[in-house]
Amino acid sequence: MDSDIVMVDEKGKRADGREADELRPMKIEAGVLPNADGSAYLEIGKNKVLAAVYGPRECHPRHLQDPTKAIVQCKYNMQSYSVGDRKRPGPDRRSVEISKIISEALESVILTELFPRASIDVYIEIMQANAGTRCAGLSAASVALADAGIPMRDLVPSVAVGKADGKLLLDLNKEEDNFGEADLPLAIIPKTDEVVLLQMDGHMTKEEFDAAMKMGVAACHQIYEMQRDALRRRYSVTEEEEVEE
Ligand code: UDP
Repeated sequence: MDSDIVMVDEKGKRADGREADELRPMKIEAGVLPNADGSAYLEIGKNKVLAAVYGPRECHPRHLQDPTKAIVQCKYNMQSYSVGDRKRPGPDRRSVEISKIISEALESVILTELFPRASIDVYIEIMQANAGTRCAGLSAASVALADAGIPMRDLVPSVAVGKADGKLLLDLNKEEDNFGEADLPLAIIPKTDEVVLLQMDGHMTKEEFDAAMKMGVAACHQIYEMQRDALRRRYSVTEEEEVEE
């Protein structure tokens, strides 16, 4: 352990009162921005995230057009005021990387071949950050895409699993992320449990990695239910009315 800070007490409770496998309180609302084709607002713990979708629309610049399918262009942006130490505005290496991995995760579920030459533009704004913003952004973006009526194979729930005080912990908060030993953000397609995003910062043993994946996939299924609830509320559809494929 790198610090004297206790993140998990002798009873296994975390400093914020959560169990090891417990998500932070979460809230999702679809259709919050009337100007956008689709949108969603998501809170998880102290993270506050907005996602807006425009498209499918003509792709600019035109040289990016793909005659066989639509391209998915995601812009992840952390506002200067989203963290205690003002973040320098504008893109940086981190936001370019996050935009790329989120675009790729979303591209794997969107039926892009239905919209040749088009662009599907996804904007993710982090208004308040407390670790796990790439996952929160991706979970929000997939609800915004569904709200825009973009045909998709499924939604994409996402969460991070980490290790702090030598224990696996779900959905790390900022302190756990800063002082912990590892962080493993992941995202899945719930219908198949196919993994569409996976990164790792720090080290885990093979056994820890397997257990972390299991914990993360189970939590993604919980987030999936909240995503679906948000869409049902938006379109006033009851669970019984929902047409199963
Ligand atoms: N963070 C920050 N300034 C930055 C980048 C990140 O304060 O320029 C904080 C922010 O709270 C973020 C956390 O560090 O949520 C963890 O960042 P990381 O790069 O691990 O991505 P995230 O966990 O948000 O996906």
